[in-house]
Formats: sequence, C-alpha cells, structure tokens
Amino acid sequence: MSSYDIVVIPGDGIGPEVIDASVSVLRACEERFGLTFTFDFKDFSADLYRRTGRRITTEDMDEIGRSDAVLFGAMGLPDVRSPEGLELGAQVEMRAHYGLFASLRPVRLFPGVDYPVKAEHIDMLVIRETSEGMFAGLADAHEPSDETASDRMTITRATCEKLFDVAFSQARERRKRGTPGHVTLLHKSNALRSNVLMEGVFDEVAAKNPDIGSAKHYVDVGAMFMVTDPERYDVVVSENIFGDILSEIAAGLVGGLGLAPSADVSLTHGVFQPSHGSAPDIAGQGIANPTAMILSAAMMLEWLGGQHGDARCTEAAGAIRTAVESTLKAGRRTRDLGGTASTQDMVEAIIGAMGEVKP
Ligand code: ATP
Repeated sequence: MSSYDIVVIPGDGIGPEVIDASVSVLRACEERFGLTFTFDFKDFSADLYRRTGRRITTEDMDEIGRSDAVLFGAMGLPDVRSPEGLELGAQVEMRAHYGLFASLRPVRLFPGVDYPVKAEHIDMLVIRETSEGMFAGLADAHEPSDETASDRMTITRATCEKLFDVAFSQARERRKRGTPGHVTLLHKSNALRSNVLMEGVFDEVAAKNPDIGSAKHYVDVGAMFMVTDPERYDVVVSENIFGDILSEIAAGLVGGLGLAPSADVSLTHGVFQPSHGSAPDIAGQGIANPTAMILSAAMMLEWLGGQHGDARCTEAAGAIRTAVESTLKAGRRTRDLGGTASTQDMVEAIIGAMGEVKP
C-alpha cells in the first residue's frame, strides 16, 4: 500500500464541484491500485478574501508544501480584486513560493468530441514557463500613471535549462505512449533580446538530447500552425505569456477548456489544476465539465509515480485516462461539449468505465 498526503484547495465558482469529482475518482483508485490518499481540504478563495480579508500566507504555503502534492480547483471572482487591482489567485503565489517554473498543459483529441479544425490526430503538450518571462516584473515597484505603463520580460539561463530539460524528458516519456518524441520552441528572438538568450539555451539543450527531434518557430507563425496544422506538434515550449495564450489555443483545438488539464511543477513540488478558471457563469448548477480536473488528478498520479518510483500511481493514472476516453467515446458529455450529462453523471460514468479497464 502506498500512502500520499494531498492538500486540496477547491477555491471559487465551479472549483469545489470539479474538485469533488476528482476526489471521488481518486477514491475509486484506492483499493484497486493499492493506494491510500489523505485529503486535507484548505479554504483559500477569492470569496474567503471578500468575507474576511484572509489570503494565503508564506506560513500556509510552507505547511502545504510539506504534503506530497496539491490539487487545486480554480480561484478568482471577477469582482474581487487585491488592493493592487489584480484578480486574486493563490496559484500565482504558490508558483512563486515553490518555484514552479513549468506548467504542463497536454491536449489531445478524444473520439466522439467535436473540434473546430481539420486534423485527425492531435496529441500535444504545451509547456508554459511560469516563473519569469513577461510576468517577471509583477512585483516591481512602479508609479501609477495615466500616461505610460510598462511590464518587464526577463529570461534567465538557469530557468531555461531546467525548462528545456523538462521539455525533452517529457517528449521522451510521451514517446513510450506512441508520440514522435519531438520538441518545438516558440519564441520571438527576431524582436526580443530575452528570447535570443532563450533560443541559444534551447539549442544547447537540444544538442544534449540527440534522440529527441527539435524545431524552432517564431511564435506568431507557430500560433498559425497550431490552428492550420496542429498535428505537426508534439511538445511545444514557450515563455510565460506566449505559453499562456498558446495553451488556450491548444485547448480550443480539441473542444475547449473543460477537457484541458494542467500541472504546475518544480523539481520537488507539484500543483495540479484544470486550465480553466472558476467559470462563475455556470457555478452551482451541477453542469461543469469535470474532465479537465479529473485529468489533472491523473497528471498528479503520473507525477507522484515518477517522483516516488511508484508504478501503482502510474497505472492508476493510465486507467483514469482510458476511462475518460471511453466515457466520451460512448457519448457521455456535458453541455459545453453539446451533451446533457451533469457533473455527477460524468463522475459516475468515468468511475464505472474504470471498472472495465483491464489492469
Ligand atoms: P481565468 O482567467 O480564471 O482562467 P477565464 O476568464 O478564462 O478564467 P473561465 O472561468 O476559464 O474563464 O471560463 C471561460 C468560459 O468557459 C466560461 O464562460 C465557462 O462557462 C466555460 N467553462 C470553463 N470551464 C468550464 C468547465 N469545466 N465546464 C464547462 N464550461 C466551462
């Protein structure tokens, strides 16, 4: 039996609904795969801040960081802002605190789900750098002005080396499941000094990984290829704001945010959350698509499997992915995908399908 301590932060809007769904699926893995999870629920949300002024603190994050992993629903409400005027998000503070430098955002086509582009086989991992790039200056001192405002893009060699190591090793891992083993850097080195450095480090890391193919495109043309020829991409890596935008394009390619999971990782910590936000427009109605969150829980298992050399976690992750695929293929879909299933219907169907997956 392997035991893991998981901190669970449901957050706002549909966050608690999709978190409940993923916890049910993880519970369904316990007996079958010889796993035990202790879930420690923490209430950090924009709603809590509105009611009490309480935000996540350094001490909270030190304590949370002693767990094995964090499952995060969604945080933020449009009308709740910090004193600096920004939307609240414990996920942003956790990225800085734990040094989570890479956000892994896989997308793939699921049989039976409508998608808007001409392609037969999309299976792509977008890796967004999440500790610097265009958001490097978020904490910079500034004088508010109605005339001029600036942001700062900073790229460091140290982060690029770690980021590209992750990209090439992800391509190698994915290849075991049938992908080509290829990494593309999307950048803007023709206009941005920071991206010249990024491109140079990418070339160095690519040279050390000759078994994995590599390519580089300017981000503007790369964004077009993503829509016109998405099958050309396996692992795509980019700086912070480009990666943010590219990962949402990628989610749109395969049917939307309800299907797009993510993992924010460092070499030692992982926070697993759907790519979507709190979707307040549909909260509380029981209609949120839980698939992105459930696939994020599968990414957590995959990551725990790698960190602890635990094949039980890796097997459970595979069973969840297979069950999600067969559920969607069988026509069970929430409203965002044109179906009528509720969140709970999806959870029951996925847990039922896991019972059919051969160990
Ligand atoms: P954020 O900036 O926090 O990422 P956002 O402004 O991009 O949030 P989301 O909360 O992600 O917005 O939602 C965008 C739209 O997608 C919403 O209108 C919502 O209804 C829909 N949506 C997002 N996630 C889901 C989901 N899991 N199930 C169904 N619909 C969703």
